[in-house]
Amino acid sequence: MSNKYKMFIDGEWVDSSTNERLETVNPYNQEVWATIPQASNKDIDDSISAARTAFETIWKKISGAERANMMVKLADLLDQEAERMSILETTDNGKLIRETKNQMHFSAKGYRFFAGLTDKIYGEVIPLENQDLFDYTRREPLGVAVLITSWNSPISLLTNKLAPALAAGNTVVIKPSEHASVTTLELGKLVEKAGFPPGVVNIITGDGRVGDYLTKHPNINKISFTGGTETGKRISRNASENLVPVTLELGGKSPNIIFEDAEIDRAVTGAVAGIFAASGQTCIAGSRLLVHRPIYNQVLTKLVEKAKTIKLGNPLDPTTEMGPAANEAQYSRILSMIEAGKESGADLVLGGNEVNGEGLEKGYFVPPTIFANVENSMSIAQEEIFGPVLSVIPFKDEDEVLQLANESKFGLASGVWTTDMRKVHRLSREIQAGTVWINTYRTAAPSAPFGGVKMSGYGRERCIQAIHDYTRIKNVMINYAEDDRDPFSMQTK
Ligand code: NAD
Repeated sequence: MSNKYKMFIDGEWVDSSTNERLETVNPYNQEVWATIPQASNKDIDDSISAARTAFETIWKKISGAERANMMVKLADLLDQEAERMSILETTDNGKLIRETKNQMHFSAKGYRFFAGLTDKIYGEVIPLENQDLFDYTRREPLGVAVLITSWNSPISLLTNKLAPALAAGNTVVIKPSEHASVTTLELGKLVEKAGFPPGVVNIITGDGRVGDYLTKHPNINKISFTGGTETGKRISRNASENLVPVTLELGGKSPNIIFEDAEIDRAVTGAVAGIFAASGQTCIAGSRLLVHRPIYNQVLTKLVEKAKTIKLGNPLDPTTEMGPAANEAQYSRILSMIEAGKESGADLVLGGNEVNGEGLEKGYFVPPTIFANVENSMSIAQEEIFGPVLSVIPFKDEDEVLQLANESKFGLASGVWTTDMRKVHRLSREIQAGTVWINTYRTAAPSAPFGGVKMSGYGRERCIQAIHDYTRIKNVMINYAEDDRDPFSMQTK
C-alpha cells in the first residue's frame, strides 16, 4: 500500500492536472512506498500566480513581527514532529535516522534564527553633499522566490532557503527532488498549522522538467537552487532569460588535510565524519584526504581499522552507522566511479566490492571504500562521487598541500587538522573554499555562512547576510530646497 501524496498550491492539496504520478522508492528495500504528482505546466503556472497574489495582497503588507510569529510556530511544530518527519525522510532517502532527526531540530533552529531577523531588515539614511536633499534606502522583498532542492537532506536544505525568503517577506514556490519529496510535502501541513496565509508557501513536485519550466518562468523574482553543478549551470542559463537573480549551492570535492602535528586520533575521526557520514552523500564530503607524508601510513592504518567497524544496516535502526545509497542511479554512479578508481591504478585498501550481509540484500549498499596513493589528477580525486569513497593523497609540505587542495574545479568546504596556529591562519587564508574547518569537520550553525566558490556555486546561506539575497535596495531621494534648478544638466550636488 503506497501513500498517495498531493501538492500544496494556494492553500489547497491538489493532484497534478494531468494526474501523472511518480513512484518514490525506499532505498533500503526497493519498495515503492509512496507516489507524488508530476506537476504539469498548468500546475506550475497556478503555483506561481498563487504566490504572486499572496505576495501582493497579503505577505508584503504584514509586519515582520507577524511573519516571525508564524515562523516560530513552524519551528515548534518541526520540533514536535521531528520523530515522525525523520522516519519519513529516512524511508525516502535512506539517510540515518540519527541524522535526519538531528536535522529536523537543526531546521527548527534555522526558522527561529531567521524569525529573529524579520523586524531587523531596514535601510540607511545617507548623508549627501547637498543638505537640502534627504536620501534613504529601503530593503524590499523580491517577490516570488523559487526554491529547488536535492534529495540528500530535503528539510535541512530547504530551511536554508525558505527561512530567509519568508523572513524577508517573499512568497515561495518549492520544488523538492523527485527522489525525496515526501517530507517537503509534509512540511506543507505544518505550514498550514502554523497559520501562513494560502499562497505564501506553495509546494509542487516532479522531475527536472518541472524545475526547467519553473526557472524559465517570466513571473518569478528569485531562484535558490541546491543540487548538482550541471543542473546549476542550466538553471543559471534559464534564469538569464528574465534576469532573475540566482543562488547556487552545488557540488564539492573537499580537501580534508592532516598535518604531522595534528592530534591524530581526532583527525582520523574527522576523516570518517567527512566521508562516511551520510554514506558520503553530502555536498561537503571530505572526499580528498590529504595526509602529511611522515604520518601517512599511521593515518591510513588507523583509518582503515576504524572504517572496517562501520555498521551498515537499516537506516531506521538507531545503531546503524551507514545506510544505503539513496537511489538506483546514485548507486550505479558510485559503483562506476569505484571501477574508474581501480582502473586508474590507485590502491584499493578497503571496500570497493558488493556488500553481503543480513538485512543488506535489497538495499543499495556500498561499503566504506578507501583508495590510497591517489594522484590528485585522477578522476576519483577530481569528480564528485557523492558516495562513501575516499581518496587518500600524500603531501610533503605546506606549499604542496595548498596546491593540491586548490587544484580542483570545486570549492565548497575544507578541513585542516593541526596544532600549529600559524598554519591555521595561513591555510584559512589561502584555501579556495567557502568553509574552512579547523580541527573539526561537518559542523554547522544557522548563523555561520555556508556556500561555495568556483564550480561549487555562489551566494551564502544560513547567516544574517543570507537575508540580503532575498531583498533588494531601493533608494529614495527627497528634495526640500526652495530654489529652482537647471533642467538640462543632471543635478549632482
Ligand atoms: P540534481 O542537480 O540532479 O537535482 C537537484 C534538483 O534539481 C532536483 O529537484 C531536480 O529535480 C532539479 N532539476 C533537475 N533538472 C533540472 C532542470 N533542468 N532545471 C531545473 N531543475 C532541475 O542534484 P541531486 O542529484 O538531487 O543532488 C546531488 C547534488 O546536489 C550533488 O552534486 C551535491 O553536491 C549537491 N548538493 C549541494 C549542496 C550544497 O549546499 N552545496 C547540498 C546538497 C547537495
